[in-house]
Amino acid sequence: MPMHEQGRAKLAEEMGEVQQILGKLQAYPQLALPTQELHPDGTNLRHRLENELGDLIAAVGFTIKKMGLNEKFIEFRANEKSILFNQWDKE
Ligand SMILES: [Mg+2]
Repeated sequence: MPMHEQGRAKLAEEMGEVQQILGKLQAYPQLALPTQELHPDGTNLRHRLENELGDLIAAVGFTIKKMGLNEKFIEFRANEKSILFNQWDKE
């Protein structure tokens, strides 16, 4: 499989891993707070989320590079979205 396709496959895989942890946190919302308490599967969900968000960010960057996407536009879009999220956070 060419590397650009592997990049997209990796992005989909990492998105799935983040989604899995978000699902577990919906079932155990107290584990979203800083705590030593473990999920019944024996893991710390906050640490797992940190790991998988790191993987996801790396996969996003890799996919942007391998597909030659418009990085400047994506940064602009991300900034606009961050401004919107921050406005919601103040409401
Ligand atoms: Mg991962």
